[in-house]
Amino acid sequence: MPIYEFKCRKCGETFELLIRSSDAKSTVACPACRSTRTQRLLSAFSGKVGNTASGGGCGSCSATSCGPS
Ligand SMILES: [Zn+2]
Repeated sequence: MPIYEFKCRKCGETFELLIRSSDAKSTVACPACRSTRTQRLLSAFSGKVGNTASGGGCGSCSATSCGPS
């Protein structure tokens, strides 16, 4: 089973989770704040980043603070 990394968009917590195929489309809750506003971080980025990146930014790393400068 693959391990996916998730990031909570509410509190910023990152966590890893084993995802079975049957759970792939279910919502993952943050273990820290129980928010369901979580985002799956792909190890191989497919180009779609769910963040509010208005000016592009870094799409090759998972750091939200990775600025162009
Ligand atoms: Zn959270």
